[in-house]
Amino acid sequence: MSGSALNELQHHLERRGLRVTQPRLRLLEFFLHTEGHFTPEEISERLREAGQPLPIATLYQNLRTFSEHGLIGEVIGRSGEVRYDTNLMPHSHLRCAQCGTLLDIILSLPDLRPQGPGHDWHITGARVELQGVCPDCQAQAAS
Ligand SMILES: [Zn+2]
Ligand SMILES: [Zn+2]
Repeated sequence: MSGSALNELQHHLERRGLRVTQPRLRLLEFFLHTEGHFTPEEISERLREAGQPLPIATLYQNLRTFSEHGLIGEVIGRSGEVRYDTNLMPHSHLRCAQCGTLLDIILSLPDLRPQGPGHDWHITGARVELQGVCPDCQAQAAS
């Protein structure tokens, strides 16, 4: 990793008041260079394959910390498992009802402020998930 990339990762952590540690940098680098929605076990596996293993307890702890500080997102997988989102940009999801594929999509959302109850809340975020059937599953159904 180049010096400037490392600096950027450190700033990422410091901006959110997080102490910069070696495991956190390693994890953040993984998120910046990987696409998808992974379980902690899958992340552990990937890091091990990349020759950058992290103890599983450290991994769990830091994933939670990142999530609590809004550095990474969480999505619920097909079987109800928690998956961590490597896409650090705000986005919505499109989920295939048949194979469970989860696609990151950009939606221009309408005004989602509540009309009746809740109108006086300060809304800080919204999550939209669309369900459908992916092209692969459509092709399979057609054949
Ligand atoms: Zn599908
Ligand atoms: Zn996503």
